[in-house]
Amino acid sequence: MKRLLLLATGGTIAGCADDSATLNDYTAGVLGADALLAAVPQLQGLATISVEQVANVDSADLLFAHWRALVDRIRDAFTADLELAGVVITHGTNTLEETAWLLQLLIDDPRPVVLVGAMRPATALSADGPLNLLQAVQVALSSDARGHGVLVVMDGQIHGAQRVTKLATQGVRAFASPGSGPLGWVDDVGVHLPTASGPRQVPFAGLDLPEQWPQVPIVYGCVDPEPLVLSACLNAGVAGLVFTGTGAGQLSAAERSALEAWRGKRPLMLRANRCGTGPVHSDSDDERLGLLPAGSLNPQKARVLLLLAVLAGWERSQLDALITASP
Ligand code: ASP
Repeated sequence: MKRLLLLATGGTIAGCADDSATLNDYTAGVLGADALLAAVPQLQGLATISVEQVANVDSADLLFAHWRALVDRIRDAFTADLELAGVVITHGTNTLEETAWLLQLLIDDPRPVVLVGAMRPATALSADGPLNLLQAVQVALSSDARGHGVLVVMDGQIHGAQRVTKLATQGVRAFASPGSGPLGWVDDVGVHLPTASGPRQVPFAGLDLPEQWPQVPIVYGCVDPEPLVLSACLNAGVAGLVFTGTGAGQLSAAERSALEAWRGKRPLMLRANRCGTGPVHSDSDDERLGLLPAGSLNPQKARVLLLLAVLAGWERSQLDALITASP
């Protein structure tokens, strides 16, 4: 039988409520990885799955230290066991897309890394976690999943790490890939994915993650934005900054003036957007203000990229080249 590694981090898939009709008022990250596996007896016939508990938290409480542990463990596992078929990660849905994108930028191996979560706690009537976990394992075992990068399996859909996002607070169909749609799907006939198109670029494959991470806040655009947010970030000497601009990533005149007037060291800065769909393109003021458009990355993924770029000591031009090559 093929071998898989399951890394558990918590989330609703491991969450428990007092009552099976309770879908919202529950505690995430309660059940251990063994209990998640035990809820899906069909897994025993599919693969030999070794389980490790990396964390057991609500994904809003994940820390950079957890990310570092996950990355180190996946790299070690792939290096140590050339026959390992893939890795499945159980994760809270709230920040799942950030972890997926982080791994996509760091893990250089064609074998599948699949993230999965649930919208209903394990104690719920019609809990979605067990089927999602079964389907995530099916995808991780599929040779068609090789070379696609990091994948997210939720409600039968297979999403790529770059585009996937959580778009709904309720309901099992909470994930989507705006602008592109899912890469494929999984059902009881099998895994349906096109063959991956050649080797993919892993820009931070050689980057070792440190204990201390840089400060990279997100500033959210709105009518008459409070100026103290931006000035507090600049005065604190943040290493990077993501603007969630309005429309196609637009900053207010006040924010632009504050950037123009800033005489300190300029952080690496990305302009993302708050629309949810569609790219941010460069504009004529970007260079002067030290900004870069974030392409189609949503603000939270732009931040992940920026964190890694700062850690790797990248220049603005390297970041620009990466975003332009993979918009
Ligand atoms: N609060 C949960 C978390 O992100 C939500 C979920 O798992 O769906 O951990």
